[in-house]
Amino acid sequence: MTSGENPVIEDFALIHDGNCILETGTWSVLKNTFSGDVQDLGEVTIVPGLINAHVHLELSHLKGRTVQRKGFTNWIKSLLSNPLYDLDSEAVSEAVQQMRDNGTAFCVDISTRNCAQVASIMDKLGMGFYACCEAIGTQQPKEGAKFFPQKEFTYGRAAGSGHSLYSTGSELLQAVKIANDAAGLPYPIHLAENAEEDEIVAQGTGEFAEMLKGAGLLADCGRKGLRPVEYADQLGLLDESTLAVHCVRVNEGDISTLAERKVNVCLCPRSNTYIGEGRAPWEMILKSGINTCLGTDSIASNHDLSMWNELEYLLENINISMSPAEALALVTGNSAKALKIDASYGSLEKGKRAVYATVPAHLEDLLF
Ligand SMILES: [Zn+2]
Repeated sequence: MTSGENPVIEDFALIHDGNCILETGTWSVLKNTFSGDVQDLGEVTIVPGLINAHVHLELSHLKGRTVQRKGFTNWIKSLLSNPLYDLDSEAVSEAVQQMRDNGTAFCVDISTRNCAQVASIMDKLGMGFYACCEAIGTQQPKEGAKFFPQKEFTYGRAAGSGHSLYSTGSELLQAVKIANDAAGLPYPIHLAENAEEDEIVAQGTGEFAEMLKGAGLLADCGRKGLRPVEYADQLGLLDESTLAVHCVRVNEGDISTLAERKVNVCLCPRSNTYIGEGRAPWEMILKSGINTCLGTDSIASNHDLSMWNELEYLLENINISMSPAEALALVTGNSAKALKIDASYGSLEKGKRAVYATVPAHLEDLLF
């Protein structure tokens, strides 16, 4: 499957040099034009390498160590009872390898403490990436501050990201956005994820607000009476470079704002269910024309990091029918567009990175 007007090609073949796609077409034609090793995949559907638009690999050692379906405050409490930032490089490597085995070719990783180390692991294993160094806390940015490692990698780039409206100071959120924009990078932020966020942004109150205050992490957002999307818009954080992650608690007005600002939305359906936050209005978001993609979030709020499983969960629970191309775009083309990596990812075309995934047999029935 490729992008463009004719998304499904029978007898598809691609020629690559191990790194880049040199040519695509049908096997009956291409076999006469190239020589070299041939790999026959048999009767399968191949798609571009999958993109996981939201994951936190530094939490890879926390599988099964948080509570499920008890709401965000209880989930955070259980998360914080673990050694969060002692990076377990082996667990990260294993997670990246599993993601690659499941067809993921690119991910947006968010790290609070270990951005450069996680980036190095992904780079070594050939995973394409944005390694986002997450800004959290209420400190004002220093003049000339760098918000992410200024380091070169083979398969990806370091970037900044904002944790959230309630845990990252407004000036810091804006400064990171400006830094990412200047570097041509997308700007991920957790947005409208849960009821706790609604209350803190609007009023600055609640059990979770007290927890944040105790940790010195309560941002300057309360007592504004605004909804999260309204507040993010007021701060100037919403535009075509923004990747708004979760968007569970968005209403019609919020969706209009996100659509008008051309914000990209990353849904994390299984993570929202795991934590017990409910589910985003997927149908309304998709119908609005917002460029939408999928992410797994971390293994601390999901059962695995498989994008196929994420897509399957969405398709089994969504109340609109989607064409195979629309469904697959959530984990390929739409994500590539949102992340500005469509020159290399998101479709199987000449010049792009030679990474593809095979649709698992059980998903073929759901998709086709
Ligand atoms: Zn997250």
